[in-house]
Amino acid sequence: MTEHAVVIAGGGPTGLMLAGELALAGVDVVIVERRANQDVDGSRAGGLHSRTIEVLDQRGIAERFLSAGKEHPAVGFAGTVLDISDFPTRHNYLLALWQSQFEPILADWVDELGVPILRGREVVGFAQDDTGVDVEVSGDTSVRAEYLVGCDGGRSLIRKVAGIEFAGLDPSTSWMIAEVEMDEEPELGFRRESVGTHALGRREDGEPVRVVLTEQHVEHTGDPSMDELREALVSVYGTDFGLRSASWISRFTDMTRQAASYRHGRVLQAGDAAHLHPPQGGQGLNTGVQDAVNLGWKLAQVVNKTSPESLLDTYHAERHPVGAQALHNTMAQVALSTPDDRHQALRDTMTDLLSMDEPRRRIAAMLSGLDIHYDLGEGHPLLGRRMPDLDVHTADGPTRVFTLLHDARAVLLNLGEPGGFDISPWANRVRLVDARHDGVWELPVVGEVTAPAAVLIRPDGHVAWVGDLTDPELPQALATWFGAATPA
Ligand SMILES: Cc1cc2nc3c(=O)[nH]c(=O)nc-3n(C[C@H](O)[C@H](O)[C@H](O)COP(=O)(O)OP(=O)(O)OC[C@H]3O[C@@H](n4cnc5c(N)ncnc54)[C@H](O)[C@@H]3O)c2cc1C
Repeated sequence: MTEHAVVIAGGGPTGLMLAGELALAGVDVVIVERRANQDVDGSRAGGLHSRTIEVLDQRGIAERFLSAGKEHPAVGFAGTVLDISDFPTRHNYLLALWQSQFEPILADWVDELGVPILRGREVVGFAQDDTGVDVEVSGDTSVRAEYLVGCDGGRSLIRKVAGIEFAGLDPSTSWMIAEVEMDEEPELGFRRESVGTHALGRREDGEPVRVVLTEQHVEHTGDPSMDELREALVSVYGTDFGLRSASWISRFTDMTRQAASYRHGRVLQAGDAAHLHPPQGGQGLNTGVQDAVNLGWKLAQVVNKTSPESLLDTYHAERHPVGAQALHNTMAQVALSTPDDRHQALRDTMTDLLSMDEPRRRIAAMLSGLDIHYDLGEGHPLLGRRMPDLDVHTADGPTRVFTLLHDARAVLLNLGEPGGFDISPWANRVRLVDARHDGVWELPVVGEVTAPAAVLIRPDGHVAWVGDLTDPELPQALATWFGAATPA
C-alpha cells in the first residue's frame, strides 16, 4: 500500500486546481484520473469568468490562459448580453477559451509543480477511519491517505460511497450537443420554437459548427447517434446542411442538484461532484476551480498541522452558498428560456430591467464571481470579499497585490505606518508587507469603500480581517485562520 497525504479522485478542472494549490503548500498529493490523457470529449465549457481569471492571476499563471483565449467585454444571462467593461478589475471580460484548451494548460502547471497523476486509473471504493482513508484504486492498488477529495464530476462515486445526499431537481429538458462538419453553410444563430431553443454556432472561421438542439423528450440512455443527430437537424431546420462528420455528439439536461454536505469526515467534495446544473451562464467549471482555491490552503494547513480540522468546516460554510447561488440563477435562466409568449414577455421585461446599471451590475457580478462575499461577520465592506488587485509601492518597489499571493501564502498588508506589530509568531505562515496605495478602493457592485489601514489576505485572495495593526483582535484573527502563535 502506498501513502499520500491527500488523494484527489478526478483530474478535471477542479481536481487539477486543487492539486496545484496543495502542491504550492508543500502537501504530498496524488491525482487518480480515469482518462488516459487530458483530452476532453468535445470542447465542453466555453469560457472563464473574471473571478476565475483573477484566481489564476493570484498564482501568476493567468497569462498562459489569456494568450490562448479571446476577451469579450460581456457575459450572458438567459440570452441578455450584460456589459462588464466598467467593472473594477483588471479582468473585466469573459475569456472565451474551450475546456479542451483550458485543461492541458492547467495540467502543465500541475506537472511543473511535481504532482503525480495516476492516469487511466479510477477510484473504485474507500473506507475511512479516525486517522485516514484507505482508497481503493483500479488495478488492485490501495492508497492510504489522510484525506480524500472527490473531484470526480457529477456522477461522483466518492459522493455516493460517502452517502452524501445530492438533493435537487430532476431534469425537465434534454439538449443534444455536437461538434460537426457540414458541406453547406448552416443557419448560424438561435431558433426558438414550441419545443425550445436551438442554436448553431461557430467561434472562428474554420472551426467545427457547434450544434445545440432541444430534444422532444427528457428520458434517454447514452449519447445520441449520428443518425439521431441528422434526424433532429432535419426536423428543426428541414435540412441537415450536408452533415458530414461529428467529432463529438452528446447530450445534457437541466438537472440541478447539490451535495447536502461538502465534507463527510475525511472525505470532501468539490466541483461538479458537489454541484450540478445546466451550462446556462457558463458557471460550472468556474465554480469548481474556485471551490478548489477555497479548499486548497485550508486542507494544506490541516494536513500540515498548523490548523485544527474544524477549519475544513469553513469550506462548506463558504462554498455551499456560492454553489446554491449558481444553481438558483441557472434555474431562473432555464425558466426564462421557456418558449412561449408569456415567457417571451418575461424575457423582454428582464432585458429591460437589465439595461439599467444597478440590475446589470448585480447579475453580471454574480455570474462573473466578483460579488462573492463570505460571511465573516460585521465590519468593513472588504471583510469576506475578494481583495482587489491594487498597485502598491513596497520596500522592494512597485508591485501588484496579486503578485504578493503567487506562492499561495497569507499576506498581512499594512498600508499605514510601518512597524507596530510583531508578526514573528506567525512568520512561517503569514508575510507582513508594508505598502502604500495612492488610488481609490473600489469593489464590484459595492462601489468605493474607505481605504483600510491594514488587511489580512488569505491565500485564496479573500480578506479575513480589516483594521490597523494596533487592533487587539488582530492576533485572534491570525490564530483563527492561520493557527496558533508559535515561538519565534
Ligand atoms: C455542454 C457543456 C457546456 C458547458 N459550458 C460551461 C461553460 O461555458 N462554463 C463553465 O464554467 N462550465 C461549463 N460546463 C460545465 C463544466 O464542463 C463542468 O462544470 C466542469 O467540467 C467541472 O469540472 P470538474 O473537474 O468538477 O468535473 P469534471 O470535468 O467532470 O471532471 C471529473 C474528472 O473525474 C474523472 N473521474 C470520474 N470518476 C472518477 C473516478 N471514480 N476515479 C478517477 N477519476 C474519475 C473524470 O474522468 C474527469 O476527468 C459545461 C458543461 C457541458 C456539458
